[in-house]
Amino acid sequence: MYEPYPVPELAREHKKFRYSSLWAFAKQDLRLLAFLLLIAACVGIGLGYFWICIFSAFLIFFTLQLRSLYLVNEWISNRPYDVPPNLHGIWGALLFNVYRAQRQERIVQAEMVGLIDRAQSSLVALAEAVVLIDELQQIEWWNPAAEKLLGIQTLDRGRNILTILRQPSFIEYFNHIDQAPDGLKMKSSAFEDHYVQVKMTRFGGESRLLVAYDVTRMHNLEQMRKDFVDNISHELRTPLTVLSGYIETFLDQEDLNPRWKRAFDQMQAQNKRMNALVNDLLLLSRLESNKQIAKNQIIEMPSLMNQLFDDAQAYNVDYHHTLNLDIDSHCDLIGSDMELASAFSNLITNAIKYTPKGGTITMGWHDDGEQGIFTVQDTGIGIDPKHLPRLTERFYRVDSARSRQTGGTGLGLAIVKHVLMQHGAYLEIESKENQGSIFKAIFPKERLYQMTE
Ligand code: ADP
Repeated sequence: MYEPYPVPELAREHKKFRYSSLWAFAKQDLRLLAFLLLIAACVGIGLGYFWICIFSAFLIFFTLQLRSLYLVNEWISNRPYDVPPNLHGIWGALLFNVYRAQRQERIVQAEMVGLIDRAQSSLVALAEAVVLIDELQQIEWWNPAAEKLLGIQTLDRGRNILTILRQPSFIEYFNHIDQAPDGLKMKSSAFEDHYVQVKMTRFGGESRLLVAYDVTRMHNLEQMRKDFVDNISHELRTPLTVLSGYIETFLDQEDLNPRWKRAFDQMQAQNKRMNALVNDLLLLSRLESNKQIAKNQIIEMPSLMNQLFDDAQAYNVDYHHTLNLDIDSHCDLIGSDMELASAFSNLITNAIKYTPKGGTITMGWHDDGEQGIFTVQDTGIGIDPKHLPRLTERFYRVDSARSRQTGGTGLGLAIVKHVLMQHGAYLEIESKENQGSIFKAIFPKERLYQMTE
């Protein structure tokens, strides 16, 4: 560790210089010269060698100045951190000023070193891994936690970080850190079955600060939750199918008592709701675990939009809305057709459901050369802005009673969000209460496929 130089106290004699001007010190020299000349003149007149004595006085004066110069030089060259020799006149003033400036600088330096030491020792004590990466992607410094969590070793100093953390997801994150503000969760390269959350920040141009912490416990809990939902959804499927089979058989009977018919109708409606819920849960769990059917299919947008329009018309029979279709893009989408169709259809059914009878629903597909935008606009009940940030959470509903009444599962927008995320896209919602909403699914350029005419 770097030890700062001890800072000696200022010599007491020098303190008197502090507030004096340079002229005051020059006067000391001039007084000395005058004194020497006076003595020389007296002695010279007495002995009859006036000019020789005057010359000698000058000689003595310059010799004294040379001696001071020698002492200054000796102090600066050999012991600059000691208290300077006690000199009078302008040499003394010069020494004092140099010494004072230097001392000031050493105090600042000592403070800086202390601060760096404290910062460094707090980083060393952190349970989170901290790695400094320079602008050439080389590892500059790391703390002991980084050795444990990321497997960085002494030999790795100066090595490229991408040759140590080689997971494709990390390389992708490293090259596009701005696109992942929450960082990246990845498997630890040092610990079997351990997961770390990695977050990088740029500083001083292209240097980076990497912070990583162990999220294995959270990951396992999350996995348990997913498995639980997945299993229970699968387990519920069979009883629901059996129930729905029996309900349909009963409903098909012509001599069914009308009182029972009402009960069976309700049972069928609830059974359908449960089925929809189970299906949505399974779809969500599949989306979360990234098990996709295909992510790179070319989806012909005019045909998908027409199909969605036809489905919307079928769903619209009870609502009597005016439905519009507006396509002004020559781009197709690259992605997974089933998942995207399901996401778009969720947005459209929501628009139909949450618009009072006789409204207008417009679905559109546009592009501005940079982005592809799927829109659904309605003239419905709208959403209070305070709900917007939480709208894509599972089971979040603005009005639970209304949502249940319309057969909603509360999972539709969560599915939309996940499907879009998997396609590098995002959802934008504009809404005004009692006036209507626009839901926009915005796709990046990489997901657009230019149609050949
Ligand atoms: P749900 O199955 O309840 O419709 P969603 O996840 O699809 O669940 O939607 C969440 C909530 O967002 C809904 O309960 C509803 O309150 C609100 N919402 C969604 N779409 C619209 C819309 N077009 N207009 C008004 N509210 C909407």
